[in-house]
Amino acid sequence: MDRAIKIPVSSPSIDKSDISSVTECLESGWISSMGGFVEKFQENFSSYIGKKYGVATNSGTTSLHLALAALGLKKDDEIIMPTFTMIATINAAEYLGLKVKLVDADLETWNMDLNDLEEKVSENTKAIMPVHIYGHPENMEIIEKIAKKYNLWVVEDAAEAHGAEAFGKKAGSFGDISSFSFYANKIITTGEGGIAITDDPNLSERMIWLRAHAFGRGGKHFWHEELGYGYRMSALQAALGVSQLGRIDKFVAKRREFARIYNENLRELQEAGKISLPVEKPWAKNVYWMYSILVKDGYRDKLMEYLANKGIETRTFFYPVHRQPYYSSRYGNLHFPIADRISIEGMNLPSGNSMSNEQVFTVTNEINNFFSKEVG
Ligand SMILES: *Cc1c(COP(=O)(O)O)cnc(C)c1O
Repeated sequence: MDRAIKIPVSSPSIDKSDISSVTECLESGWISSMGGFVEKFQENFSSYIGKKYGVATNSGTTSLHLALAALGLKKDDEIIMPTFTMIATINAAEYLGLKVKLVDADLETWNMDLNDLEEKVSENTKAIMPVHIYGHPENMEIIEKIAKKYNLWVVEDAAEAHGAEAFGKKAGSFGDISSFSFYANKIITTGEGGIAITDDPNLSERMIWLRAHAFGRGGKHFWHEELGYGYRMSALQAALGVSQLGRIDKFVAKRREFARIYNENLRELQEAGKISLPVEKPWAKNVYWMYSILVKDGYRDKLMEYLANKGIETRTFFYPVHRQPYYSSRYGNLHFPIADRISIEGMNLPSGNSMSNEQVFTVTNEINNFFSKEVG
């Protein structure tokens, strides 16, 4: 059977404005991080989210690491985060030797379960790192309340949620520092890249300093009082970011339209108890970074195989952190039944910026075919 991919799970949209922005950068000769594009991207992106300062980096992983380092978090400080997330969330804490308290997932939103969050806070807890999984925002009102009560930093991992909203405010506008990724499959892309945004001028300045090797201040250039990093974003990446940001509302609207079509055409399968569809809480705007479903009764892998044979690429959900070989010796004996369950049942359907509505119909038709032909 022909298994060439006809509908990729995610594909970026690169248009003439992107090409001319990057070309302008190349022609200017300023291709490292100087020349203005990085500053422009930082300003435009942070004001789109609603924060004062942006510090662009070479990935979403490095922006998370930079954020935690700038807060002064150090070995054995505790940080609370979900076990159901992409590995970079916990890796950023691991680089600094932090102690991580993992939390199970919520069965509806797939975000961190906030029900007993307060019980996870200890004397050593310094920060909470919520993650807006697959584009649905975490309930930031609850997070902020607990953070305030126990005087904790909030670092949002908003890598998957550009443009999402909770209670009318953008994901990434809540935390002391918020981090985004601009990897090629994210809602806007710089190829590789990330940004840490904040309202605090001191944190911003500290991140800018640490981002570029913590170079000596006061004229002593190659002199380093602290451990810095090589985490700068290049102007070429920022030039792409500036033009991509110009189309972000279009990309978000597109994904929400895909979700509407997916929901409409898959609702009967949900009603029949065969799958679960993603939710959008009444206080939330979901940007459906990856439109995702849970498949019941062990049919997920068969459905993925069926779709692959039709040229439709899909992904499994993340494996939870506590199951990862690198982390399982520390967390593998903990009990996170929801995260375990969704990682077995969950799959991402195609939802890239360059997809068409017709392709969404093709996917939903094939999913419906699978359940009527193969499952019955
Ligand atoms: C993509 C992603 C990251 C990391 O971003 P990179 O740019 O690939 O380093 C971090 N956290 C989450 C939740 C992500 O989805």
